[in-house]
Amino acid sequence: MPFRTLGLEPRVLRAVQEAGYSEPTPIQNAAIPHALAGHDLIGIAQTGTGKTAAFALPILTRLAAQPSDRRGTRVLIIAPTRELVVQIEENVRAYGRHLPLRVATVYGGVSENPQKLALNEGADIIIATPGRFLDLTQRRYGNFSNLQFLVLDEADRMLDLGFLPSIRDIVRALPRERQTLMFSATFSKEIENLTHQFQRSPKLVQIGRRAAPATTVTQLLYEVRNELKMSLLLHLLGNQELNMVLVFSRTKHGADRVARHLEQQGIRTATLHSNRSQNQRLRALKDFKSGSVRVLVATDIAARGIDVDGISHVVNYDFPKHPEDYVHRIGRTGRALAIGEALSFAAPEDHSALRALERFIGRGLVRRRAEGFNYHTIPAQRTYHQQAPRPLRLGASHPYAQEGQRAPAPCRPVHDLKAPGPLRRGPSRPPGMSSRGPNGHSREPSRHSGKPARPARGFRWRRR
Ligand code: AMP
Repeated sequence: MPFRTLGLEPRVLRAVQEAGYSEPTPIQNAAIPHALAGHDLIGIAQTGTGKTAAFALPILTRLAAQPSDRRGTRVLIIAPTRELVVQIEENVRAYGRHLPLRVATVYGGVSENPQKLALNEGADIIIATPGRFLDLTQRRYGNFSNLQFLVLDEADRMLDLGFLPSIRDIVRALPRERQTLMFSATFSKEIENLTHQFQRSPKLVQIGRRAAPATTVTQLLYEVRNELKMSLLLHLLGNQELNMVLVFSRTKHGADRVARHLEQQGIRTATLHSNRSQNQRLRALKDFKSGSVRVLVATDIAARGIDVDGISHVVNYDFPKHPEDYVHRIGRTGRALAIGEALSFAAPEDHSALRALERFIGRGLVRRRAEGFNYHTIPAQRTYHQQAPRPLRLGASHPYAQEGQRAPAPCRPVHDLKAPGPLRRGPSRPPGMSSRGPNGHSREPSRHSGKPARPARGFRWRRR
């Protein structure tokens, strides 16, 4: 069925044609008529199948039919990550390029001022992450009394425990008379039961199974001991067919560690996780999209919704804890009917998560052994003072700046470090013990706070 039979506004239709879409995807075919008819909607379809256009096109059509002198924001789109907000904005701007609409984004990690201005000027469409949006609106920025459309993208993530309280607070401040659309690739019955708080008699549009990974992705499983995962990744990257690779790590530190190893082996790599500044995050995505880095190592922050053309492989370096994360992670490849491969590493301790995943997606993953990889090597154990020094950036005139040479990093064992001045008390740390506590904070007293050393027990400061 061609787009023109769906009842879209001619200017929206023109933009769709200019985007190069010849016909609607199944989720667009099924969702657009309901959304145009004014129904609340839950849309479930595989990753990369055009869900953004499925909600943006009917909303733009409805806005285009209204007089342009309406005051206040009319559409609020909420998404879980800043990168996804930026991406939705690009799509909405492209689909609405022939309409006189103001579109603005609201998300953390960047200056508030333009966002406050956009909220106060009443941008027609606001695309936001929940945290910054709530922060600004609770400080009375923006006017939502005329809001007509609320969209929760990656809806199951927005309604899980992490985001649910913020979503409740946001919705409480919106008019009850509105249309609420929710979209995701995974949507459990438990999460669906929560939607009645936000929607009225929603239509359910479901393409395929609720938890279906994209059919265009080949899924392979490598069973490997934890300590061999790095070597296996390097071995697989020896194959140049892995030309645009998204590697998922469970933790931010793990992501940094993997990226460091890859860089040391001469593989151009960027990292994306929440400890990086917003500029660094956007830069990493840009470099990955443009091909100036071959590998992007990310945490699950990149698992949802990110649409990067041409990702050849997704590697689950750390096996995902939740089956939903697996579906979203591997959905970063095989988008818009392209083909892709997902390679998952499973260590013995991941076997119960693996079984849960196979139940969730309704089939077993194909086991693969890497050809020519020695599964029996014992990787050298690295202690603190054996760690390979990080490469230093050296000026061309520096004696160590010759190709292939690295400045020797003076590494002393932890217990040789000098005590940091007179504040140090108590028994010295046993040899080999880390200077960091289990939460990653320094065990050492601050030498920078400028506060006086705490007086001994029983001693009182005397008032002058
Ligand atoms: P989404 O699921 O919205 O992230 O979209 C995934 C990809 O499909 C994006 O690159 C869209 O530009 C593309 N896309 C969306 N709708 C269509 C369509 N009808 N025909 C071709 N490509 C599309």
